[in-house]
Amino acid sequence: MSWAATVLTLYPEMFPGPLGHSLAGRALEEEIWSLETVNIRDHATDKHASVDDTPAGGGAGMVLKPDVLAAAIDASAGETERPRLLMSPRGAPLTQSRVAQLAEGPGAVLICGRFEGVDERVIEARNLEEVSIGDYVLSGGEPAALVLLDAVVRLLPDVMGNALSGEAESFSGGLLEYPHYTRPRSWEGRDIPEVLLSGDHGRIAKWRAERSEELTQSRRPDLWAARRHTTD
Ligand code: SAM
Repeated sequence: MSWAATVLTLYPEMFPGPLGHSLAGRALEEEIWSLETVNIRDHATDKHASVDDTPAGGGAGMVLKPDVLAAAIDASAGETERPRLLMSPRGAPLTQSRVAQLAEGPGAVLICGRFEGVDERVIEARNLEEVSIGDYVLSGGEPAALVLLDAVVRLLPDVMGNALSGEAESFSGGLLEYPHYTRPRSWEGRDIPEVLLSGDHGRIAKWRAERSEELTQSRRPDLWAARRHTTD
């Protein structure tokens, strides 16, 4: 059975977008994963098909109505097997380990917010897990859902050509990845480090591990501290 994504959005035409190309696009064609979009507006009940209303308590912007969003969730993702993820800058930051966990499951329901956000009661009532893709504010949840799906789909079995390439990459061992080089051997006066041309796999592995550690320590002291903490 393929990994099943259902995306609830006011802009279904944004999907599959970039996920229709390259690795994810091929995997979609090969039915390694499936993508269903649900237009939240189709679940509006008034004659204007309204999906938003003014914020209780006043203030700028509009809020996605709980009854409309809940109806969209109930109609398309009533089962609770798949996690229901609400894209939200208030959510838990998305990590590679959460992505890997999602890839091991049956799929996910992704809910894309718009406007100022979503009525708090639907988050509680439908048990939505808020997920953030970073500390910045997007105009809508759709790019966040695309990011999350891209990260998950590449981990599904048979999607990446060389399965080993997922193992050494950034974050997998709590570290950033080492630098890469390819031909030509010398370019604009810069040479490929000699050790990488030595054919000595032991030395190469050691060099790469050292570079990974150096990079993580200097660029991401937070990751480095977390790793030291778990290995001490
Ligand atoms: N008023 C909200 C706040 O300050 O937290 C921001 C709402 S934003 C303009 C509209 C929608 O974009 C959100 O409901 C969410 O679905 C999505 N979004 C914005 N930034 C995001 C992020 N960093 N990660 C995930 N989703 C995000």
